Amino acid sequence: MNFLEEKILHEGTIKAGNVLKIDSFLNHQIDIDIMRQLANEIKRRFKGKEVNKILTIEASGIAIATMLASMYDVPVVFAKKSETANSTDNKYVAHAYSFTHKTMNNVFVSKPYLQADDKVLIVDDFLADGQAMHALIDIVHQAGGAVVGLAVAVEKGQQNGGKLLRDEGYHLESIAIVESMDWETQTIKFRKQTKHVSDTYNLKLVDE
Ligand code: 5GP
Repeated sequence: MNFLEEKILHEGTIKAGNVLKIDSFLNHQIDIDIMRQLANEIKRRFKGKEVNKILTIEASGIAIATMLASMYDVPVVFAKKSETANSTDNKYVAHAYSFTHKTMNNVFVSKPYLQADDKVLIVDDFLADGQAMHALIDIVHQAGGAVVGLAVAVEKGQQNGGKLLRDEGYHLESIAIVESMDWETQTIKFRKQTKHVSDTYNLKLVDE
């Protein structure tokens, strides 16, 4: 089991509606040591790839993205969310349905912050249906930049986003992949990642 899977087992809770809550170290309070380990592991998995910008989406992706950017010594750009900003004046705009808020958002990046010669590593906290990732990819392509790869802390493998993105040919790295989770029993099962991660566990979560 890797450091992130262990942390999820100890501090995560499963909420109704297929939501994993990890507020104690990522989505509300931020555990800097875990962020450092995440950034290290992501950088290791993209070894040899040239990256000159990290792109994420507000809010929870920013912590991981910032730590990673400090390791590459490159800027972080975060896409902003808005339900109203339709204007494309000086912005790249894409659409994403929010899994957690159940709303359709426009997400945007101001044009000066993404360029055609950018080699972008896109990072987020969770990957579920892939809406946020697809919006960020769309924005990089609108700018004429290249997507070097995609990295998330937690992929919910029981949803389709990861499969879609891999089928589209993107290099996607997920530090923990949830195979299944059950709200009533508070159990979670991680997918074995043959290249990187040790084993598959099915343990009881510690509830709050
Ligand atoms: P997607 O766009 O892939 O459907 O969902 C990814 C986005 O929704 C992430 O940016 C994340 O903020 C949020 N999200 C999706 N599933 C979960 C979850 O189980 N827990 C938390 N905390 N956020 C989630």
